[in-house]
Parts: sequence; C-alpha cells; structure tokens
Amino acid sequence: MTENCVFCKIIKGELPARVVYEDEDVMAFLDINPVSKGHTLVVPKKHYRNMVDAPDDVIAKIYTIAKKIGVAAMNALGAKGFNVISNNEKVAGQEVFHFHVHVIPRYTGDELRYDVKGYKYAEGEADEVVKKLNEALK
Ligand code: AMP
Repeated sequence: MTENCVFCKIIKGELPARVVYEDEDVMAFLDINPVSKGHTLVVPKKHYRNMVDAPDDVIAKIYTIAKKIGVAAMNALGAKGFNVISNNEKVAGQEVFHFHVHVIPRYTGDELRYDVKGYKYAEGEADEVVKKLNEALK
C-alpha cells in the first residue's frame, strides 16, 4: 500500500467507490469522471506505479477482467463494443499512479474520439521504427 494513493484508499475502504467487481487480487469500480456510461477502472489491489512495474501475471489478470467487464457492459448496458485503454506515465495522460485499465463501453452513435490518427511517418521512418522495435523485443 502506498500512502496518499487514491486507488489504495479505495481498495482499503477509506474512500468510497461504486464497485462493479472484486476478487482477492482485483477491484473494478466506476470512473468518477466517466467518458461513457459504465466507464470502469480495473485495478490490482497491490500497488504498482503502472504497467511498466506490474508483473506479467498481474497485467494478464487485469486485462482478463477488463474483457469480462466489457462483455458485461455489452450484455447489460446496451453497449455495442468497448475500448480497453491503459495510460502509462504522465506523457501518456496517466494521472493516478496506481496501475489501472480503463474499460470504456461504446454505444451506437456516441461519437467518442480518442483515436485521431495524426502521425505521419517521414520517408523510410516506418522501416526504421520496425527495425528498432524488432531489436528491442529480441
Ligand atoms: P489516468 O489518466 O489513466 O491516470 O486515469 C485516472 C482516472 O481515475 C480518471 O479517469 C479519473 O476520473 C479517475 N479517478 C480519479 N479519482 C477517482 C476516484 N476517487 N474514484 C473513481 N475514479 C477516479
């Protein structure tokens, strides 16, 4: 547990949350400032700063629960799909530094846009990027 971590406080019951799912490792609760109806955060009970620090088995479990919640939103809320998003570090929009995944149910005609595609590769750059990532992933 980390002092002053808002998600640790929710997990400890020191702050209120609308809990949609809980087991021994994971808690999922509604985002206080939702992007869409049913926007849920899936959070490991153990504190990790973000995906960089979280062990792979924890990440796998969080994404498995995220899928379940997305499917539940499709079955129970009338969502027609969902996005699963994780912001890692400030530059990526992370505001709460306790690893979490957003499940954002999507509804016909909701016109949510976070996926604006603005990046243009310079000549030869895409090949260079693939090469560098291939190397880094070896
Ligand atoms: P991120 O930008 O990925 O770090 O997102 C943090 C999310 O946590 C934001 O969408 C906030 O609305 C949400 N949030 C912050 N405080 C609370 C809280 N007390 N209960 C529920 N959601 C929260």
